Amino acid sequence: MSFEQTTIIGLEVHVQLKTRSKLFCSCTTLFGASPNTHTCPVCMGAPGALPVLNRQAMDLAIKTGLALNCRIETATKWDRKNYFYPDLPKGYQISQLDRPICSNGYLDLIDPEAQFADRRVEIERAHLEEDAGKSSHDETQMGGESKIDLNRAGTPLLEIVTRPNLRSGMEAKAFLTELKLILSNLNVSDCNMQEGSLRVDANVNLHLTKEDQRIATPIAEIKNLNSFRGVQRAIDFESDRQRKQWNNDGLTIDQAAKQTRGWDDESGQTILQRTKEDSADYRYFPDPDLVVIHTTSQQIEAINSEIRPLPSARRASLMSDFSLSAYDAGVLVHQGDPFVDFFETIARHIGDGKLVSNWLQQEVLRYLNEKQTDIDHFPVSEEQFIALLERIKEGKLDTSRGKNVMELMMEERLSMEQSLERLGIESLDSEELAAICQQVIEENPDIIQQIRNGNDKAIGNLIGKAKTINRNVEPGLVRKQILTFIKNG
Ligand SMILES: [Zn+2]
Repeated sequence: MSFEQTTIIGLEVHVQLKTRSKLFCSCTTLFGASPNTHTCPVCMGAPGALPVLNRQAMDLAIKTGLALNCRIETATKWDRKNYFYPDLPKGYQISQLDRPICSNGYLDLIDPEAQFADRRVEIERAHLEEDAGKSSHDETQMGGESKIDLNRAGTPLLEIVTRPNLRSGMEAKAFLTELKLILSNLNVSDCNMQEGSLRVDANVNLHLTKEDQRIATPIAEIKNLNSFRGVQRAIDFESDRQRKQWNNDGLTIDQAAKQTRGWDDESGQTILQRTKEDSADYRYFPDPDLVVIHTTSQQIEAINSEIRPLPSARRASLMSDFSLSAYDAGVLVHQGDPFVDFFETIARHIGDGKLVSNWLQQEVLRYLNEKQTDIDHFPVSEEQFIALLERIKEGKLDTSRGKNVMELMMEERLSMEQSLERLGIESLDSEELAAICQQVIEENPDIIQQIRNGNDKAIGNLIGKAKTINRNVEPGLVRKQILTFIKNG
């Protein structure tokens, strides 16, 4: 009997909080300035310079913790994590060791496409710390330079640590996607991975069990993954690598040999960087320059009251109130709160969630993606969108011409009336319409017979013929007249 193999994954997510200034000084956190211009004696670690806490960072951390169902520490403290690296001028990082601001939370993962089982991912802790600077190495030439930019040093980070509940690269990606959606909706981070506002480390190993034997392959920590797809691929590669190692070495495997590995996106491999130090090597001790921070339950309650319904709640209400499928609800909620608000307003007026959802997913999302913009900058107002969809729903405009109208409303910012006029779409008076219906009925006795025999779909054929006589016939009205003729005939 062979060993049963399970991939075990835990994540550490570093989220840059959206504050205007750094965690312990008033330097700006703006991205993209000339190197080393956003610095001061505090974040440069000059002797005698004293840190002062940015309370906003604390509030954003608490807000995130509440959204992740965490316990919030009412008396939290700061610790120095000591290590030497050129991008850390102080020689230590201010972090939180034993009293993190948030702990013992969870995030539930539900996959509408059922590619993986529903899973609760526990949040072990989320603590505040300051970021280090950024070093870059010029590898284009021999003897190239290494450069340090300390603009980022001291920027507030929330490090969110999960318990090892995840089981595949796909699950890890789903977790991160949901987490990012929550962080964006809470407006606690811009989550811009290119600018380093969201960075992920993944801890991966295999658990091997057979009867009462339990063995684990050494944990590999894959550092600084900067895309969700990269996270998924790195985890799948690493899990496979450890499986092969287990197949080769079997019981001689050194279970304690922890490793730090990097991810090479181009070759699609994780690469050994070093064997990992224990946390004791950092010689943590309480920061003597900073006091214990107290947060009252009133303060926590005030922050809690600012939290809008979370993505999971919004999906549920789209499904129950507008009868959307889990998949459609997922697509809409993935676009963020303003998009869902836009949908709900229109769908409430139109009374047909599926119709509105289709239009938003096809026309509106295509436009927003093409223009690289968001719903706040969408040129068609809710009122105009409602007017157009009402016309379609009443059968006064067919979908394909409706899309032409929408195109003009989006691209040329015309009103619906102006777009109809531009396209020469006008309503026929009832006599004209009756005459066209009469003509179609007389010329197509065989199709009329098919409809009489119960083939309702054949009406579409007659509507098509009516349209060739006059493009402006309103399909819904033609259908109605033909059905009336059949009923009375
Ligand atoms: Zn500073």
